[in-house]
Amino acid sequence: MMTAASEPKENMSQKKTLKTAMVGWRGMVGSVLMQRMEEEGDFSSIEADFFSTSQAGAPPPMGDRPILDASNLKRLAEYQVILTCQGGSYTEATYQPLRDAGWNGIWIDAASTLRMQDDCVIVLDPVNRAAIHRALSSGVRTFAGGNCTVSLLLMAILPLIERGWVEWVNSMTYQAVSGAGAQAVLEMIEQTRHQVRSLDAAPEHATVMQLAEVANLSLTTPGLAEVQGAPIASSLLPWIDSETGDGRSREEWKGVVESNKILERGGANQPEMIPMDGLCVRVPTFRCHSQAVTIKLTEALPIEQLNRALLGGHRWLEFVANAKQTSIERLTPLAVSGSLTVAVGRVRKLQQADDMVTLFTVGDQLLWGAAEPLRRMLRIAVERSDELEL
Ligand code: NAP
Repeated sequence: MMTAASEPKENMSQKKTLKTAMVGWRGMVGSVLMQRMEEEGDFSSIEADFFSTSQAGAPPPMGDRPILDASNLKRLAEYQVILTCQGGSYTEATYQPLRDAGWNGIWIDAASTLRMQDDCVIVLDPVNRAAIHRALSSGVRTFAGGNCTVSLLLMAILPLIERGWVEWVNSMTYQAVSGAGAQAVLEMIEQTRHQVRSLDAAPEHATVMQLAEVANLSLTTPGLAEVQGAPIASSLLPWIDSETGDGRSREEWKGVVESNKILERGGANQPEMIPMDGLCVRVPTFRCHSQAVTIKLTEALPIEQLNRALLGGHRWLEFVANAKQTSIERLTPLAVSGSLTVAVGRVRKLQQADDMVTLFTVGDQLLWGAAEPLRRMLRIAVERSDELEL
């Protein structure tokens, strides 16, 4: 398995190049990003200062400069790079005013706010490294990590897309609660604690069904579901993000538009879009997003050929043979949590048609789904810092 720490190290100059403002490093994505940057020695090649919307003046996570105020635009404008995992509201309040004031630095963002803007590249360098370099050369300075399920799905089925075998994709997701942020995780933990307390107080000779009812009923207590709007412990939420007005959730809309933008499809002078759709569901796992995927192939390929392509896919892809024991051991959130491995398995033809295949994939949405493409973008910027006028 490819653990985050075991990724082969690339040569990095030890010269401190880019003055970088780190914003949102305390959150779910930010704390994983910090861990990865430390593991990979990324801080040795940048001059980092740490910003927060709530902790200004407190001791920093490293170095000796106290945490700075993330709403101070004048201060932020002194940096060549701003890397933010703070969220969409922060981006909305900060990005455009900085650009309007003439700031021309590199903005690297985990939020979705800017992803679909023409002057923003969605970064997932194992898929679109060439597009990232082209963009930097042509003066683009705004980069956003993709939606977590989009990035993980592309990492999982890239070998099939690259071979031109994919006509359309349907993906049904099982997305971890940490995808909704630190407060959502804390809330799910509190819901679970509340259930356990209720079970402890249940009559000694209660039946199993009565215990299940006690646990379920305990979640109707007011105040337990303020963050996500409904309890998730022992349940699931079949809607993620806002409504788009056409029956889709915004998370589902992102699935098609962002993936095709990363693949450079569907725009002027580009190949046709690959239609991608499905339902996005939040489940009570802590970390990692899973997806049950149906693919309409461009031709009825033998299953062995698909398996071979996935097996030799890329260094972060782990192919799991379609057998019960390997699937329940290796194709789960628990198995891949904290690792850069994107596991793919349960590959088999569907009974409906010989050119339709199903598969299951799971990856850590805080790594390839969020933090990893951002730190790799920062690394690319550092590598090219001599030629970029920042
Ligand atoms: P988050 O956990 O809610 O963190 C965002 C900010 O909330 C933190 O930087 C911190 O800011 C503040 N915060 C409030 N309470 C906190 C607590 N108890 N612990 C830590 N921080 C706390 O958000 P996130 O999930 O990292 O998401 C950040 C952005 O990435 C969002 O735009 C999201 O859509 C996007 N994204 C998330 C994921 C994911 O899997 N979570 C995946 C892809 C993209 P201050 O220091 O300023 O207080």
